[in-house]
Amino acid sequence: MARIELTDIRKVYPGGVEAVKGVSLGIDDGEFVVLVGPSGCGKSTLLRMVAGLESITSGTIQIGERVVNELEPAERDIAMVFQNYALYPHMSVRQNLEYGLKNRKMPKPEIARRVDEAAGILEIAPLLARKPGQLSGGQRQRVAMGRAIVREPAAFLFDEPLSNLDAKLRVQMRAEIRRLQRRLATTSLYVTHDQLEAMTLADQLVVMNGGRIEQAGRPMDLYERP
Ligand code: ADP
Ligand code: ADP
Repeated sequence: MARIELTDIRKVYPGGVEAVKGVSLGIDDGEFVVLVGPSGCGKSTLLRMVAGLESITSGTIQIGERVVNELEPAERDIAMVFQNYALYPHMSVRQNLEYGLKNRKMPKPEIARRVDEAAGILEIAPLLARKPGQLSGGQRQRVAMGRAIVREPAAFLFDEPLSNLDAKLRVQMRAEIRRLQRRLATTSLYVTHDQLEAMTLADQLVVMNGGRIEQAGRPMDLYERP
């Protein structure tokens, strides 16, 4: 686990669009922060900068003790959960979960321990031998989360992970993420345009608009004012 500190982050894209206009934000150890706001307000740009998938025009991003501005995604000790599941179709669920760890040359018993633990937490142990094509949408989403969990990262970054699911499944997976969040208590930054999702999940809710933070606070304090 680690605290994340964003200080005066700006992003100007090569054609001149200023997508993020000076954002400062602290995410405490174990805190679940949800970024909401209308389409185009800069949410995913900000998340992608924390992930290292997009360069920063100015400002600093600190994860734990380290300033990570110049670090590659793999060096940041974070794990992303995307809306498109990004599972390898020709591999079994177990192989999908093992893949990143094998690339890091982790010892086999440690890989097995992590995969079995994640499968237990996500209740996908009976599915380990299946291929992604033999899973439902919700099961695939769980495996995608499993791929993030086995990394045992300092922080999770979620980019609209539920937006491809139908309404019923979205509600179910929302509850699932809440359960995980309670159990793992890993520092998390979660982007969504769904207000209800945001209010259900957030310890701290951050409302963005036009590349800036408009409001931030506990969901109760932001929405239950007269
Ligand atoms: P959100 O995630 O809130 O929908 P984005 O971060 O995707 O917002 O986009 C913020 C702004 O930056 C928008 O005006 C968008 O058009 C622009 N933008 C996003 N990605 C790029 C890019 N790769 N190149 C140029 N402009 C971009
Ligand atoms: P590694 O575990 O060695 O990073 P992978 O093949 O899993 O290898 O990942 C390749 C690249 O994709 C790396 O940059 C890695 O950080 C990134 N990556 C893979 N899965 C995730 C994830 N869930 N979250 C964040 N980055 C990921």
